[in-house]
Amino acid sequence: MTKIRECANCGYRTFYKKRHCMECGSQQWDKQESGIGELLAITSVHVSPKGVRKPNRLGLAKFEGANLVAQIGKDLNVGDNVKIDNGNTLREEDDGTQVGAQFVPAGD
Ligand SMILES: [Zn+2]
Repeated sequence: MTKIRECANCGYRTFYKKRHCMECGSQQWDKQESGIGELLAITSVHVSPKGVRKPNRLGLAKFEGANLVAQIGKDLNVGDNVKIDNGNTLREEDDGTQVGAQFVPAGD
């Protein structure tokens, strides 16, 4: 499960690894379970890098205090409740981007 990073000082939340909090500059982070999110938008990318599906359906989902863009693993619609399924392929790059996370229906 992908976790939300929460600033230990001010409570700012993000999924993406950051050295400093965007709000207060703190370097102390706690990790929280992401839980269930709401799918806000869906798009399809028709030009993608080698090894990435075409078209690549992507979604934007809002979780408690943090948004995340990820691939859509199954047919989903805007407004659906989703959870993050990272399978065994999730990895975090040095720049904080995450590769391999997918949204799936929260009921699965
Ligand atoms: Zn902060």
